[in-house]
Amino acid sequence: MTNFTVEAIELTRLYGGRAAVSNVSFNLSKGEVLGFLGPNGAGKSTTMKMLTGNLAPSNGSVKICGIDMIENPKEAKALIGYLPEMRPLYKEFTVDEYLTMAARLHRVSAKHIKPAVERAKARCGLSHMSKRLIENLSNGYQQRVGIAQAIIHSPMVIILDEPTVGLDPIQIRDIRALIRELGQEHSVIISTHILPEVEMVCDHVQIIDKGVLVFNGSIDVLKNQRVGNKLLIGLKNPPSVADMLGIAGVIEAEMLPSGLMRVRFAEGATPAEAIVQASVQNGWGLHQIAPDQTSLEDVFVQLTYQEQPIVAE
Ligand code: ADP
Repeated sequence: MTNFTVEAIELTRLYGGRAAVSNVSFNLSKGEVLGFLGPNGAGKSTTMKMLTGNLAPSNGSVKICGIDMIENPKEAKALIGYLPEMRPLYKEFTVDEYLTMAARLHRVSAKHIKPAVERAKARCGLSHMSKRLIENLSNGYQQRVGIAQAIIHSPMVIILDEPTVGLDPIQIRDIRALIRELGQEHSVIISTHILPEVEMVCDHVQIIDKGVLVFNGSIDVLKNQRVGNKLLIGLKNPPSVADMLGIAGVIEAEMLPSGLMRVRFAEGATPAEAIVQASVQNGWGLHQIAPDQTSLEDVFVQLTYQEQPIVAE
């Protein structure tokens, strides 16, 4: 028996000889929320379709709780709830009618359908919308209905493709909170091109670029990459760049338009103390010194321009 809820093994998908997804492998465990991050066209949807058994891989395989998607598609699919990028809603149905139909499609037994519908509505904050036509709901509520149909059969694995696209900030906040909550009992995979979303919602992140995984690791590893080897220094009477370069460990210094000086230091060097001392001795008038954090966007850009994959479990 495997402990993994999802195993993607060397997944590859070719379109007309071109690889939209190439050799993607990863595992997911119960209680984990995985963020699948990448620019538009990176291969996120294609990967999700293969994971959910909606698209056959050209090569590689998918196992859900140890069940092979190609050999036993019915059993494997029964363990998945999926919200594709284009929500599969019937807008002329009420919320109750639609979720009842979704429960039937997911083979929930007749006597369990009503409780399953009530439970999914309660989890997605839809109980007061039961009799409303889906077409009359706001975009955010329609998205909740989309998520409710994905969890109606209490699947082990929930896969949500771009779950917050097109929502307003309040709706986004609500949906993210719901995803975090779902992540406590299920395994959740979300795809997104929004970096802070991954930071807020996921424990684990994979970055895909041009069909290839360029990062696979915990969110903490990604966050740590933000802290670079740079300092931002505010000085009333700044020295010349040459003087700053005279301090041991400093390998680059530049004066920024903001009046702050940015200093880059060698790997392993800790020049902050020496800079403070030099400032006191020379009357530079130090009033600020702090790490210059690379934005997460910068980390993302660096990673998606990298040639070699980084694997940091
Ligand atoms: P993402 O979800 O990250 O935006 P996709 O998985 O939709 O990316 O697409 C990855 C690449 O595969 C893109 O270059 C896209 O144009 C291509 N692609 C996706 N679906 C098809 C298809 N049915 N036929 C041909 N090319 C496709």
